[in-house]
Amino acid sequence: MYQTTAALRSAFLEFFRRNSHQVVDSSSLVPGNDPTLLFTNAGMNQFKDVFLGEDKRDYSRATTAQRCVRAGGKHNDLDNVGYTARHHTFFEMLGNFSFGDYFKHDAIRFAWTFLTEELKLPKERLCVTIYETDDEAFEIWNKEIGVAAENIIRIGDNKGAAFASDNFWQMGDTGPCGPCTEIFYDHGEHIWGGRPGTPEEDGDRFIEIWNIVFMQYNRQADGTMEPLPKPSVDTGMGIERIAAIMQGVHSNYEIDIFQSLIKKTAEILGVTDLENKSLRVIADHIRSCAFLVADGVMPSNEGRGYVLRRIIRRAVRHGNKLGATESFFYKLVPTLIEVMGDAAKELVATQAIVEKALKAEEEQFARTLERGLGILDNALSQLEGKVLDGETAFKLYDTYGFPVDLTADVCRERDITVDEAGFEAAMAEQRSRAQAAGQFDTDYNDSLKIDAETEFCGYNNLNGEAKVVALYAD
Ligand code: ATP
Ligand code: MG
Ligand code: MG
Ligand code: MG
Repeated sequence: MYQTTAALRSAFLEFFRRNSHQVVDSSSLVPGNDPTLLFTNAGMNQFKDVFLGEDKRDYSRATTAQRCVRAGGKHNDLDNVGYTARHHTFFEMLGNFSFGDYFKHDAIRFAWTFLTEELKLPKERLCVTIYETDDEAFEIWNKEIGVAAENIIRIGDNKGAAFASDNFWQMGDTGPCGPCTEIFYDHGEHIWGGRPGTPEEDGDRFIEIWNIVFMQYNRQADGTMEPLPKPSVDTGMGIERIAAIMQGVHSNYEIDIFQSLIKKTAEILGVTDLENKSLRVIADHIRSCAFLVADGVMPSNEGRGYVLRRIIRRAVRHGNKLGATESFFYKLVPTLIEVMGDAAKELVATQAIVEKALKAEEEQFARTLERGLGILDNALSQLEGKVLDGETAFKLYDTYGFPVDLTADVCRERDITVDEAGFEAAMAEQRSRAQAAGQFDTDYNDSLKIDAETEFCGYNNLNGEAKVVALYAD
């Protein structure tokens, strides 16, 4: 039952529709009304103003399958891709929302009913966390739902703890937030990892599937928390994580969507080892890159466009590692459209633009990639110690178009880090030299400042000039 990811998506929305929720379309990856946010990173983003009481809808319960990107800003999983079984740069978040309607009791019951009755997950594989002082949530889980006390783990703000989890959810440094309760699935002893709240929790044995936030506050820029007009509920469950469980596999990369993308990539590149990590990275990155372009982001040297550029270049580098001799990345778009089903509407409408933009970026980077990799290889083979100097990282950035995180990605494979402070210093020096010489300075803007970058052209800084590349001129 509900084996495919597409079937799960419909089952989720249908379950909440039956329970009086309005099914709302996913919003764009470019947040419409929120300059504090780089990309849409959760289902609640499009409802932020509703939670704050500044926007009214004609429904008080909603459900969505929201496309999300976590590759910058407060929630950034770019460096987890290829390293964990559960993180993507792009994923779909299934969510149900209450705007001053139901609160803790129903939110917990809906989630538990969906998982254990609709999907029939074995209860003994599930455990939950609650915010450390939330006795009300404890009572609901324990007395009403029947989860044993030892399977309800109290977790606080986690300051100074030896583990990462934190049961106070916030979208960003400001905005709606509140205590949360999370549901974890135990993939079994054969996988390394510990229960939430232990130092081993970052392993992939116990995987968080669903986060239920009791939205109660609006965090201000100065850190103070104002109560929201009405207590509300925001929940999020990564569809790829629940699909992995339903499909009887451990890693998200083994689910239907990723297997199709991995097989297609392997076929294009003539790779036979389907377990190769670079295939996973490429399968991940095509989703974020294609959907970002579909939502109007174009590769560029600043803001959102630069995040996109960085992800494309990382994918192209992994393709090169697998022996790519010509552009391959854009060729994955048709497979992506096929596997994403109902979630691919925007991609279908923009397919030609997306393919063209990805191809142009790949071709542009390919011109300098080999030489840059040669220089990096050389520097690494002569390296004494475990840190690559900032000068070399800057040269790769400046002359060969290597975003510093791409250099770091190559280095990490050899257990080496990059002197990022040295890189910043070299960049600052270059910038002041350029200014002194009165040169046009756009090229050295490496910051991730948010500036709603949607123009249909990119800047080519590879030869030190601000040369406009018209992506759309045939
Ligand atoms: P984790 O602790 O595993 O990094 P999280 O607590 O950061 O997850 P939330 O912000 O609570 O995640 O997001 C809600 C849900 O979205 C998670 O429970 C998970 O199912 C899913 N999710 C979060 N980040 C990712 C990601 N990078 N890739 C895929 N799914 C994700
Ligand atoms: Mg996370
Ligand atoms: Mg978590
Ligand atoms: Mg969470």
